This record gives sequence, C-alpha cells and structure tokens, in this order.
Amino acid sequence: MSTETTTAPVQVRAVDVRKSFGNLEVLKGINLEVRRGEVVCLLGPSGSGKTTFLRLINQMETITAGRIHVDGELIGIEERDGKLYQRTDKDIARQRSSIGMVFQRFNLFPHKTALENVTEAPIVVKKTPRATAEARGRELLAQVGLADRADSFPSHLSGGQQQRVAIARALAMDPELMLFDEPTSALDPELVGEVLAVMKDLAAKGMTMIVVTHEIGFAREVADRVVFMDGGVVVEDGPANQVIDHPREERTKTFLGRVTH
Ligand code: ADP
Ligand code: MG
Repeated sequence: MSTETTTAPVQVRAVDVRKSFGNLEVLKGINLEVRRGEVVCLLGPSGSGKTTFLRLINQMETITAGRIHVDGELIGIEERDGKLYQRTDKDIARQRSSIGMVFQRFNLFPHKTALENVTEAPIVVKKTPRATAEARGRELLAQVGLADRADSFPSHLSGGQQQRVAIARALAMDPELMLFDEPTSALDPELVGEVLAVMKDLAAKGMTMIVVTHEIGFAREVADRVVFMDGGVVVEDGPANQVIDHPREERTKTFLGRVTH
C-alpha cells in the first residue's frame, strides 16, 4: 500500500455486516475498511457473498444487521438523538449517486448510442445541461479509448468496448467510489486486457475502487489490498502481494491454487 493511501481517510467502513435471504445467511459479519484512493480486490469462490456485499454498499439490497458508512455517512439509515431512522428515497438516491457500479453484464441501453448511454444519467438525474453532459461524455469516452465510437450503438460494439462504455457511464456521475463486479468475466479472453487497462488507468488517477475479480494478475499489479472472502466472512485481508503470493489461510491457498492453474 502506498503511504498516501495508508493515511487517507476511511471512505468505506463495513461493521459486522450481515445479510440473510429468508433463512439463508449469506453475509455473516463482514468487517472491512477502504481508504480514499485505495484499490481493494475482493476474491472468493462463487456463492461467498461478494456480489451481495457490493449490492449492500450501493443499496440495491437492504442490510439485515450491521452498519456501512460511506464518506462518514451511514448508508440507508441515519441516527438522530440516538435513534435510527430509515433515510428518505431522495436521500438514498443522493447517496447512491456518489457510487458508480459496473456489472459483469454491461446492460447498456440498446437503443441509445454510446454517448447517449453516458449522458443519460447526468441529464435525467443531475439535470446537467445537454451540451455540458455531452462535452463531458465525449471526454469520458476518450478516457476509455472510445473517442471515435460516440455515435455507435451497443450492438455494433465488442463486449470489451461495451464494458468500457459502461465504465464511462458510471464515471459520468462523478462518483467518489467505483464498485466493479467481475467486470471481465463475461468477455472473450482477448477483450479482457482492454477493460483491465481502463481500470488500471482509473486506479492511477486516484479513484477509490472495490473490484470483485478472478484476475489474479490484475489484483497483484493494481490492488493495494486483497480481501479473500469465503462463506460470508472475510478470511484474509492484506497487501496484494502478501495475500496472493504468501497466503496465510488454508482456504485462501486452496482457492488461489484453483484459479491460477
Ligand atoms: P458471489 O457473488 O460471491 O458469487 P452472491 O453474493 O451472488 O455470491 O451470493 C451469495 C449467496 O446468496 C448464494 O448462495 C446466492 O444463491 C444467495 N443469493 C444471492 N442473492 C439472492 C437473492 N436475491 N435471494 C436469495 N438468495 C440469494
Ligand atoms: Mg457474484
């Protein structure tokens, strides 16, 4: 971890986070801190609760117990005079708008061009004037290497290009935090590198990122920290090269042995 990020303020703090679906307890007390500017890769076998955890941070699911703070604010609830209150829809929308999320499937609007996909939320949600949103949208498309594809429809773009549009679309809301959920898992192998390169560039620009991925090379190279989850708990959390190259826990060793061979 670089010295800037070890002293940076905590941007995401998860305290004993629990989530159940009916009788199934999926998250069993997650404790995690992510500092501003840090890149944390979240590894773990399928079903370990990684997606659920990201969805809780972004309030796409409601928490069963525990607390998540983002930028010092409690997510979803607020405390007044020692009592907890559900936040209003408007307040939740405000909190969510500072978090960008990129999914495994790019889910772009199929009937909108790349540029229209990127400008939709700023225009509709933030009421940004169209000309301003388009100028910024073109900048973001250039940032992800797609300056010349602004007018292309998703069906005319490769999976890697679509995913890069999805990243530009998330960035258009000027997020303080970016969540990535296996952003390259649905891509043909030859398209993975271009998406990881955009993410690496974003990390270098200082974006705070939580990245669920099976790309161990990316995690080793780009992540400040690697967190290994299994069975709804954090099994191991440490500097990327330590967790990947010298894991302490048996479960981490077994998992890494499987994904790297
Ligand atoms: P991961 O992303 O690590 O593969 P998930 O967070 O997607 O894990 O899922 C963890 C567990 O929670 C799985 O057993 C999954 O079936 C279950 N799960 C996730 N979402 C729901 C849901 N909406 N309803 C019921 N079970 C769910
Ligand atoms: Mg998942």
